[in-house]
Amino acid sequence: MERKGKEIIGVDVNELISLLNKALSDEWLAYYQYWVGAKVVKGKMREQVVAELTQHAGDELRHAGMLADRIIQLGGTPVLSPEEWYKLTNCGYEAPENPDTIPILKQNIKGEQCAIEAYKNLSEFVKEGDPITYQISLEILKDEIEHEDDLISILEDLE
Ligand code: FE
Ligand code: FE
Ligand code: MG
Repeated sequence: MERKGKEIIGVDVNELISLLNKALSDEWLAYYQYWVGAKVVKGKMREQVVAELTQHAGDELRHAGMLADRIIQLGGTPVLSPEEWYKLTNCGYEAPENPDTIPILKQNIKGEQCAIEAYKNLSEFVKEGDPITYQISLEILKDEIEHEDDLISILEDLE
């Protein structure tokens, strides 16, 4: 059935859905990078790093849910296969091959900085044409800025 909620969107809806699926792919990769990082990390301040990585993993999974719900409201389909994540991602995936706390923190800071840029771009794309996605992108952007700040604070304590 036609959706009124889709009719009121003032940007190209297909382009918007494709941007949301790119962000969704980023979130799943970020989720796994944090989740597996929290499992393998060792070294100085391990416990604090595990707690932070685990908390951020949960946030990224929640972001994925917000994006998937919005894609469905817009009449789109959230990415259905994990192999698509690598094709669509803005920010990629860095395997925590060096399990020491410092390189793991640095990898994830890099990921957050990319995410901040990506959500700034998404929020600009929807600012005029889609207030709902605008609100969602600002809410996620706020979390990513907090994530970057949390990781930098731990890294500064370590260095
Ligand atoms: Fe996120
Ligand atoms: Fe984040
Ligand atoms: Mg945190």
